[in-house]
Amino acid sequence: MSDRPFLRIGYLYPDVMNLYGDRGNAIALKRRCEARGIEAEVVPIGLGEPFDARSVDILLIGGGQDREQRRVAADLQEKGPTIRAAAEEGFPMLAVCGGFQLFGHRYVDHTGEVIPGIGVFDMETRHPGLRADRCIGDIVVESPFGELAGFENHGGRTYLAPGQEPLGRVVRGFGNNGEDGTEGARRGNAIGTYLHGSVLPKNPVLADALIAAALRRRYGDSAELPPLDDRYEAMAHAAAVRTAERRARPARGAGRRA
Ligand code: GLN
Repeated sequence: MSDRPFLRIGYLYPDVMNLYGDRGNAIALKRRCEARGIEAEVVPIGLGEPFDARSVDILLIGGGQDREQRRVAADLQEKGPTIRAAAEEGFPMLAVCGGFQLFGHRYVDHTGEVIPGIGVFDMETRHPGLRADRCIGDIVVESPFGELAGFENHGGRTYLAPGQEPLGRVVRGFGNNGEDGTEGARRGNAIGTYLHGSVLPKNPVLADALIAAALRRRYGDSAELPPLDDRYEAMAHAAAVRTAERRARPARGAGRRA
């Protein structure tokens, strides 16, 4: 690995798609790189600015209300083919909630309007209407990255196509739709999730998986990631799990009035 490795973290629409602290995901990745002597830069990718898989190493998009999703949808369609091609080649990315929904084929909002997605994940999201309960609360998920904990707040229900891998299985909370027990989606190193919070600071294994994939892609398989002292991350994770165990429904719970 280069004597002074350098990673660029691309953040899509940071001024628009950033709900419930999702910006913390970019901060967590940067800090976890720097703690290992890896220089890291967060590169905002706004409306009208290109996504170039050669100039960034990890791609993030956060959550957003329906109106923010409508605001970025046309621009995201422009970027869609390059993002999809990057995902097919194993590019590491994290899409959270509203951003996750737009990384599927479409999001049908509460009015029935179709907001087009870019099809990174083989799935679609449908909002059941304003009279339906939102999926709100703390959430715990079992995943290939171990136990994940966070917070969810979404009206849309996401349905994975047969063969589309979820990120994990819901232990407490609602997840993709509160019915089938799935949470998020995964395609190679592309990860989608409903976990806000932000998700990466209290789930360091997930953060490090994205960093390791970016290092391998840029510096080859020899790139290794030394462990960090994650005592505070572990405390935050444990607190989130305790809260979920106290407040969130066991998997497959119905939604609650917002
Ligand atoms: N607007 C979307 C929904 O309500 C996503 C919300 C979010 O990003 N928290 O389902």
